Amino acid sequence: MISGPSGVGKSTVVAGLRERREFGFSVSATTRPPRPGEVDGVHYHFLGPEEFEERRRRGWFLEWADYGGHRYGTPREPVEAALAAGSDLLLDIENQGALAVKEALPEAITIFLLPPDRETLEQRLRGRADTSEADVARRLAVADRQITEARRTYDWLVTNDDVDAAIERIDRILAASERTP
Ligand code: ADP
Ligand code: 5GP
Repeated sequence: MISGPSGVGKSTVVAGLRERREFGFSVSATTRPPRPGEVDGVHYHFLGPEEFEERRRRGWFLEWADYGGHRYGTPREPVEAALAAGSDLLLDIENQGALAVKEALPEAITIFLLPPDRETLEQRLRGRADTSEADVARRLAVADRQITEARRTYDWLVTNDDVDAAIERIDRILAASERTP
């Protein structure tokens, strides 16, 4: 599982990691509207709040969380299928969800991506240019809390200073875990 404050570079790092390693990617469901370039069923399953709630009640989610005024959830079925097949699966989820999954599946590896510093995080959030000013402020406010919490609870903290260097570090963490069953 990979987590980190909004704008730290999770999507960028995950895309690079997928070019290097074979693993499935868990497509989450969310009630937030798609950003430019995001494709339904690829980046997220974009659901209305009623549909999300209905699926939640049916037990369709392995875990779900409220984040930035929207709901996010991991569909249960693809995770169970990957586990049964013995294949690797990567989840890009926030702290609360990652801890819930870790509790259910202790063998899962939790990696938290850190920004080099707060100013850089702010620049990246703004640089994405698809997040409103109110969202930027809200996401920066939760970032501090998330980082403090992650230092206590995550298996690994990786700083995303340079994208390739961050990908390399994560690749090594995953390679090391393969050698110790
Ligand atoms: P997240 O998925 O964590 O919200 P993104 O992957 O969308 O973050 O990245 C946010 C912005 O920061 C994007 O514009 C991306 O190109 C840029 N970015 C990501 N990683 C780096 C890096 N190591 N150095 C500079 N810019 C980066
Ligand atoms: P964004 O809206 O920027 O794509 O994602 C916001 C936050 O939601 C990120 O921290 C991301 O990791 C998290 N997230 C995405 N999908 C899920 C999910 O299925 N469950 C949980 N708990 N968090 C998710």
